[in-house]
Amino acid sequence: MVKNILVLGGGSAGFLAAITLKIKLPQLAIRVVRSKEIGVIGVGEGTTPSFGRHLFGTLNIPRAAFYKHARPVWKLGIRFLWGPRERFDYTFSPQLDQQIPTLPRPNGYYCENEFRDVDISSALMNRDRVWYPQEDGAPNVQEWHGFHLENTLLVDVLERIAREAGVEITDATVSNVERGPQGIAALHLDDGRKLEADLYVDASGFRSELLGKTLEVPFESFDKMLFCNRAIVSGWDRQDDEPILPFTTAETMDAGWAWKIEHENIINRGYVFSSDFISDDQACAEFLRKNPRITREPRVVKFRSGRYQKMCVDNVIAIGNASGFVEPLEATALMVICSQCDSLVQSLHHSGMEFGPAMRDFLNGHLGIMWDNVRDFLAFHYKFNTRLSTPFWKHAQEDTDISPLDELMELYRENGPTGLLRYKLPNGPENDFGIEGYLVMLLGMKVPWKKSYESSPSERHAWQQHISKNATIAQRGLTVEESLKYVHDPRWQWNDARPATSAT
Ligand SMILES: Cc1cc2nc3c(=O)[nH]c(=O)nc-3n(C[C@H](O)[C@H](O)[C@H](O)COP(=O)(O)OP(=O)(O)OC[C@H]3O[C@@H](n4cnc5c(N)ncnc54)[C@H](O)[C@@H]3O)c2cc1C
Repeated sequence: MVKNILVLGGGSAGFLAAITLKIKLPQLAIRVVRSKEIGVIGVGEGTTPSFGRHLFGTLNIPRAAFYKHARPVWKLGIRFLWGPRERFDYTFSPQLDQQIPTLPRPNGYYCENEFRDVDISSALMNRDRVWYPQEDGAPNVQEWHGFHLENTLLVDVLERIAREAGVEITDATVSNVERGPQGIAALHLDDGRKLEADLYVDASGFRSELLGKTLEVPFESFDKMLFCNRAIVSGWDRQDDEPILPFTTAETMDAGWAWKIEHENIINRGYVFSSDFISDDQACAEFLRKNPRITREPRVVKFRSGRYQKMCVDNVIAIGNASGFVEPLEATALMVICSQCDSLVQSLHHSGMEFGPAMRDFLNGHLGIMWDNVRDFLAFHYKFNTRLSTPFWKHAQEDTDISPLDELMELYRENGPTGLLRYKLPNGPENDFGIEGYLVMLLGMKVPWKKSYESSPSERHAWQQHISKNATIAQRGLTVEESLKYVHDPRWQWNDARPATSAT
């Protein structure tokens, strides 16, 4: 019977797990132990909409406090400098898995050549605007957004929320882990204390102290599908001529890709690359050459893509980087963490806190598939990006294994961007990206299909009218700066009961 839980790690994974457990299962005693000497990873800046849904929806955290302390910036999606188009925008709103009632085909068939302004969100993003105005001129903040968050600010905010929720926090380094018949018997701290619990959440980051190191669960590498293993992280202070853009940029680089993430006062830039194709020094040189504004000392973060074969073993469940890692091409880590937290809470709740072997098996299957779906989607980005033909990209185009998507690709190559592809999606409706994500990447990267769709003049006219209408609405949109001014005004009131907000 689980009555008290010890979370090892005070990064975003550890605190999100602790908060979710305490808020959803308040009868449990939850303690976080974290080492200030080891610290947190300090990167992890973009989210998908699921993060906000988890925080404000599932956990009912007031938006006002979060905005005040975390200083988030909205992210409508990702701008890809990727494939043969100059650019394309992947928004969090449904662009292509939709059909306009007056047209005979879904939207994708009208976007083969020109892929823009498909809906209001993409029209806003296309104009560097974030929200269309309400009647009083205030921003109409919609659900279809993620955030750009500074990792250390986020961790501070989560710690504050955890304390307020009643989570106990211990600052110490775990120096020894004692094993027992249930898996882990106790954690020994460097100050001599010994902590025991019924269930241990391993949120110790890449160190994976309990699942990886102590229980020696094998790690399953994704190296047949994802070839990058390092990132150079840096950035600069925002200059007056650099407006805050409401999206992450993902740019193709010689041996990988670079992100550009927008914070209020800082621009965060990082180059994810493969050390098999370029040295750290060469990558750094390319990174600095393409980003002459960089002022912060670049630092190299090493990683391996993959996940542990099992994430829930004996009395341990791993969450966050301790359970697995993929590069942030779709900024999915916090999405995965939130799903892991939800799954843990549900499994404890539904098992009456008994957490037996069948429930652990279920969790291992469920969480494993979630990681594999993310892996497949990222691999797909590499396989079809034809923008460069450097040795790295040739290797990616020729050798990325996307066999789990073979049936989907067969249907696409014959028929184009039909929504029926959803029936060939691994893990179907449970796939976090949905068919929308795949359609955007297929169209965005101009992956060819057998026969282009010949639309009639009247269809083309109707489509033009549709995108012009979106453009007109977006033209009146507010910039990020204008919108932030509203929500940081003390008179602003979030309507936490509804997704949209209102000004007073
Ligand atoms: C280059 C890069 C870019 C990324 N970009 C994104 C992104 O855009 N979006 C996104 O969602 N994610 C991103 N991530 C992932 C991001 O790192 C994670 O989402 C997130 O920060 C979770 O980290 P964590 O809590 O698992 O680990 P960490 O932040 O490393 O926290 C580990 C915690 O465990 C503690 N700990 C470890 N060992 C011990 C010990 N022996 N005793 C006591 N305490 C211990 C540490 O002190 C720390 O508190 C990125 C990661 C990398 C590497």
